[in-house]
Amino acid sequence: MTVTAIVGANWGDEGKGKITDALAAESSYVVRFQGGSNAGHTIINDYGKFALHMLPSGVFYPGVTNVIGPGVALDVDSFMAERDGLLVKGVPAPSLRVSERAQIVLPLHRLLDELEEERLGNRGFGSTKRGIAPFYSDKYAKLGIQAGDLYHDARLREKLNQLLELKNVLLVHLYGKESVAVDSLMSTLLKQAEKLLPYVCDTTKMLGEACDNGDTILLEGQLGALRDPDHGIYPFSTSSSTLAGFAPVGAGIPPYAITNVTTVVKAYSSCVGAGPFVSELAGSEAEQLRKRGGDAGEYGATTGRPRRVGWLDAVATRYGCRVQGATEIALTNLDVLGYLNSIPVCVGYQLSDGTTTNCFPVTAKLENAKPIYEYVEGWKCDISGARALNELPDAARHYIAFIENLIGVNIKYISVGPRREQLMVK
Ligand code: GDP
Repeated sequence: MTVTAIVGANWGDEGKGKITDALAAESSYVVRFQGGSNAGHTIINDYGKFALHMLPSGVFYPGVTNVIGPGVALDVDSFMAERDGLLVKGVPAPSLRVSERAQIVLPLHRLLDELEEERLGNRGFGSTKRGIAPFYSDKYAKLGIQAGDLYHDARLREKLNQLLELKNVLLVHLYGKESVAVDSLMSTLLKQAEKLLPYVCDTTKMLGEACDNGDTILLEGQLGALRDPDHGIYPFSTSSSTLAGFAPVGAGIPPYAITNVTTVVKAYSSCVGAGPFVSELAGSEAEQLRKRGGDAGEYGATTGRPRRVGWLDAVATRYGCRVQGATEIALTNLDVLGYLNSIPVCVGYQLSDGTTTNCFPVTAKLENAKPIYEYVEGWKCDISGARALNELPDAARHYIAFIENLIGVNIKYISVGPRREQLMVK
């Protein structure tokens, strides 16, 4: 049995979707354990190009059961729209299951997210406005709606009344908007409930049995270690844990079931949204990297926002791998660096008090940190056709070894293009 958490070492967008899609071929289950529709995984395969936000990345394999675990922020409209979008493009109907304990992102959460970001103006945290922060706040304030509540009308109405009592004060008196009526919210949720019904079940029981049977399971993380609320660049973090340590909780399996923590690292850095980013590039250097990055430039899969880009930050990545508990690395986007004579890698930070460090500091110290670079020789050619390590130029192999040594974790997978087959195992 292998249970593998596929998680990000950095700010997200490391290419987890591609790695999950590739490894899903050998798996029985792909499980989302946290986050919602606020980040996207780009997957390119024989059916076309897809940006998945709500669905697990195993949906392209009919033999894989795709699970929305209890830790996920479930946006029912996104879930249904993405499923329908797959069918339109000729993908066979995927096998999908939703935990009855997963909680529902309400239209109210989206609205409050937008209003709050607008109120904060340039003091905002770069929210994607998918309702995620208000959703998780309500979840932990015990005001959330579980999928299982959708099928108990009286209970649902009572819970919504309780929620609206509080939220309508904010809507009317803080944001100066109309209040929300319980009947309207109730009617939206009952329509969603009907659509969702075929997928809702006790996924904890199902995955417990899968673990007992020794089935192969992938736990698919969203965003990366540096967006974790406890270990990341708080408050520029997301609202649920992005760490492999949370994966068994959010999925509903025993913690000791995890056998591998495959941590995805990009060969350079990219970041959507606000927050400190020490090795960030500006101007034409940034533009050159941005337009070559990913499959069609570095622009957010969910938001379309230009991603902030920079050189690989070994300080942040080593820390990200440590807090993930990485057992191996999947290095993606190596092909993108083929235009450089010499590749900068950030190996330390100069802090504002004049000291230097190679340990990732707390946000307060990070804000004014400056990068310290070492330079590795570039390979100056297209490596996207390579399928084995010995097909890579010496300089590319040297870059891999250099990073591996700095981070201290085995680089097992190397990705040289967005397509499924552009992947080699070391
Ligand atoms: P995720 O959220 O971690 O799945 O990452 P995203 O999908 O948001 O961003 C990764 C981007 O890199 C997408 O555009 C992928 O298609 C692309 N990608 C993944 N691996 C590679 C690679 O090895 N080379 C190139 N050029 N693009 C890649």
